[in-house]
Amino acid sequence: MEPTSEMPVIVIGAGLSGLACARILANRGIPVKVLEARHRVGEPWRSRHPALRLNIHRHFARLPGQEAPRGDGPFLRRDTVVEHLERYADGLGAKICHGTEVTGLTRQGRTWRVETNSGILDAAHVVFATGRDRVPHVPDWPGRADFTGAFLHAADLGDVSRFNGKRVLVIGAGNSGSDVLNHLSRHAPAEVLVSVRHGPAVVPTRIFGFPLHRLARVFAAMPVRLLDPAFRLTQRLFLGDLARFGLKSHPDGGGTRMVRDGIAFAIDDGFVSELKNGRLEVVPEVVRFDRGRVILAGGGQCSPDVVIAATGYRSGLETLLGPLGVLGADGQPIHPMGEPDPAHPGLWFTGFRPMFTGYFDAARIAAERIADVIAAQASPMRPRRPSYTGQNSADLTARPAFGAGEARTSFSTTGETK
Ligand SMILES: Cc1cc2nc3c(=O)[nH]c(=O)nc-3n(C[C@H](O)[C@H](O)[C@H](O)COP(=O)(O)OP(=O)(O)OC[C@H]3O[C@@H](n4cnc5c(N)ncnc54)[C@H](O)[C@@H]3O)c2cc1C
Repeated sequence: MEPTSEMPVIVIGAGLSGLACARILANRGIPVKVLEARHRVGEPWRSRHPALRLNIHRHFARLPGQEAPRGDGPFLRRDTVVEHLERYADGLGAKICHGTEVTGLTRQGRTWRVETNSGILDAAHVVFATGRDRVPHVPDWPGRADFTGAFLHAADLGDVSRFNGKRVLVIGAGNSGSDVLNHLSRHAPAEVLVSVRHGPAVVPTRIFGFPLHRLARVFAAMPVRLLDPAFRLTQRLFLGDLARFGLKSHPDGGGTRMVRDGIAFAIDDGFVSELKNGRLEVVPEVVRFDRGRVILAGGGQCSPDVVIAATGYRSGLETLLGPLGVLGADGQPIHPMGEPDPAHPGLWFTGFRPMFTGYFDAARIAAERIADVIAAQASPMRPRRPSYTGQNSADLTARPAFGAGEARTSFSTTGETK
């Protein structure tokens, strides 16, 4: 099948990472089209549980050229995040093709061929912004399919009040597990157990009322050898010795795990008090399920009404990109945040690396990296200017458009996929 149109740049995904990238590219005068599988922006946020708030400070929730909304306090509500993204998409300066799911990608000479559910496009550059957390991951525990209680992933948490009066087992106490536990701490389940393998690094949401994440830039600037003891000390000083309550710490420090492995912290916003007052109990790793029972390492067992697996997410990119060899063993891109891949020129990824400052800030950094390279290729003689140097929309003044002979002169506006 022949391609229906050719673009200099195609961005796949209209989440915050894809939108930030499209905005910065468009602002540099680089024609860009965004392909989005869903019919509205912000669908991943809309489907998250209604009481969710960002765990990053509002200061770090701005997007290139758009401040984060005020009114929610330091941590934005889920619905405010959705409105933030909708407003951003409205002023994007690039076309978003909604309902266009990318189903294949192949190299065709010097361009990439993008197959979608509604046509084929060729592009010099393709940016994957399809989300690090696209597919909820559940380990393949023996007996799980025959478990007689309710079983759900943290992605499907929904209204937490529905667990009132229930015996709940949360599996995992990482970033999403601690979020679940924090919300459970504000409701009235009959019992809450949390199964942990190693134990997380935990940081408090606030210290004497001050939102700790406001200092994220300080943490981001620190070398890892200082981060680990700094976080250990913070945990000890403000949360106490959690090992006394069964919550051991991972042998690797929280800073190392974040920087090296991309594993975010557990954040306390109520669950540690529950641990200390005995309303939350730590149990060993889950080994298998046996009808109504969950069998734990060491031979213990429990019989919860509900199991909530806070066991992480995957990118879900293996089918699409597996043969290209651009993914690591964990299914996440090897070049996760706008780094050029010499083996696959023109193929980019953004939104696949957690940072202390959060995904909004990461989206800006990755977008600038990508735009710098694409703009330099488009016009080797043009001086490189950062597309975004500040936080105000005034910084987003129009840049010179792609001129004659720059990049792909064969760009056609005909044959839109949608
Ligand atoms: C429960 C939960 C809470 C979180 N809380 C925070 C937080 O507080 N702070 C924070 O910084 N991060 C948080 N995150 C991480 C969060 O995923 C990111 O902040 C943010 O959603 C990432 O944006 P994104 O644009 O990279 O990906 P997404 O928001 O996932 O957007 C990806 C887009 O790509 C589209 N897409 C996917 N595949 C295709 C395809 N094949 N073709 C076309 N379109 C496609 C999707 O429909 C989607 O719209 C949280 C994650 C979870 C799961």
